[in-house]
Amino acid sequence: VSREIARRDERRISMSSKIAQFPFVRELDGFDFDAQPSLDQGQIRELATCRWIAHGDTLLFLGPPGTGKTHLAVAVGREAIRQNYNVQFITAATLVATLAKAHSDGSLDKQLAILSRPKLLIIDELGFVPLSKTGAELLFELISQRYERGSTFITSNLPFDEWTETFGSERLTGALLDRLTHHVSILEMNGESYRLAHSRARKAKT
Ligand code: ADP
Ligand code: MG
Repeated sequence: VSREIARRDERRISMSSKIAQFPFVRELDGFDFDAQPSLDQGQIRELATCRWIAHGDTLLFLGPPGTGKTHLAVAVGREAIRQNYNVQFITAATLVATLAKAHSDGSLDKQLAILSRPKLLIIDELGFVPLSKTGAELLFELISQRYERGSTFITSNLPFDEWTETFGSERLTGALLDRLTHHVSILEMNGESYRLAHSRARKAKT
């Protein structure tokens, strides 16, 4: 009987993972913490308990490209699925494009409702492409609607002081950060691998 339950559980997790639309399968077990010493392993393990999701908190995960942000977002997302939370993964670019399309064809309210449903929404790569003013406003609208309803896990390669530039408006960025930074955890990686890549690129140029 317990084997039957385990099998059913596995099926549920794999089905929910498909629905969540993760870009790849990653687990916390496969993450090499030694390779990312700026990261607090205890803090990541705490995130994987999903207590912060139960509280409806927000998570900002900042760091240069290639440092494992998406890996950890997916790993935490899969833990959340194991704990029966409804999870959705989406890149910021796709999210904004989806909202913009809905905005132009009159289905924005419906789309906002759809994106407000998951208990955990992972928005990956915020700041990877600059947002238009409308894009920033639509994102703000969604964050406002999810506020105190569900948890949002945002990854970004941008340090905080570059957010205004990406959102194009100091007022909007301020309002967005205000929404985001309520019950927020901020994880920032120091970007070891980024510097390494840069020094390699510099060497390649000379
Ligand atoms: P980011 O989202 O920060 O740009 P990713 O999470 O996409 O980086 O990482 C790039 C690739 O490297 C992925 O395949 C990921 O699994 C792997 N990776 C990154 N950091 C680690 C790590 N510390 N341990 C194991 N794999 C890692
Ligand atoms: Mg990534």
